[in-house]
Amino acid sequence: MSERKYSHVIVIVVDGAGAFFKDADTPNFDKLFKDGAVTYRAISSRPTISAECYGSMLLGVDPAIHGLTNSKVDEKPYPLDSKFPSLFRRIRNAYPDAELGSYCQWDPITRGIVESDAGVSNESAHDTAMTPIICDYIKEKKPDFLFVQMDSVDGVGHSKGYGTEAHLHRIHEVDALINDIHDAAVDAGIIDDTLFVVLADHGGEGYSHGGWSDTERFVTFAVKGKGVEKGEIEEINIRDLAAMVLYVFDIEAPEFDEEGWTAQIPHGIWKETDALEYRDISHLTGAPARISKVAHTSELV
Ligand SMILES: [Zn+2]
Repeated sequence: MSERKYSHVIVIVVDGAGAFFKDADTPNFDKLFKDGAVTYRAISSRPTISAECYGSMLLGVDPAIHGLTNSKVDEKPYPLDSKFPSLFRRIRNAYPDAELGSYCQWDPITRGIVESDAGVSNESAHDTAMTPIICDYIKEKKPDFLFVQMDSVDGVGHSKGYGTEAHLHRIHEVDALINDIHDAAVDAGIIDDTLFVVLADHGGEGYSHGGWSDTERFVTFAVKGKGVEKGEIEEINIRDLAAMVLYVFDIEAPEFDEEGWTAQIPHGIWKETDALEYRDISHLTGAPARISKVAHTSELV
């Protein structure tokens, strides 16, 4: 019998926000996660480019192994028979009736990393316009698993520079959108049984990303929900999101394998998982850097 830890998981990825949440004025984020588990030193994937990073989060696999790039996910639907099924596929297999949603401003995520036959509700729009749509979806469908990607912060990073006043201001504006989505889960009556996660895929340096500087590779990762330990998350990689979601859904994760699944459950989130060994996987970050200079809806590297 399944023992789900939460009935709902909502994940919001703020593209290109890196660890800049700590520098921006984010009253909602601060309030939402004041009793949650937070770090500004989660490790991104290498290279620090969107498709590589989202591939890691949704497949639990390093970019050197999954091989997805921005142009691949834009051009090719994700194979239905991949040996690295997405989180959506894994949840669908375990829960045929689950309501699953992928609301990504950068639509190639939904098409190029998620199987088209996994029964995933989806919409794509600019994050400001997409947020009310997401809120309606939450209230109507009370999704089991909802994955949201907001792209505008990365766009401002590319055009105005990462860590600049303009970039931090857009994080401030997105902070209000995050709160709207949280409020929708409150209104839907599901928040007490929801794992709520906000993270970034990568940061940036100057006007680009793809390299491995501190402001590109260190990102925000914040988790709240019943039973989440308040404090700082220890070592964590963005692909660990995959292991956390399977844990929540009581789905057995694949064996740790450097040629495949390397997502792990970090310490500092749930007491009962702190007994697990967290392996050092820093040697897996050896893939060559690639630099991404343009706003990433057209950032085809
Ligand atoms: Zn990105």
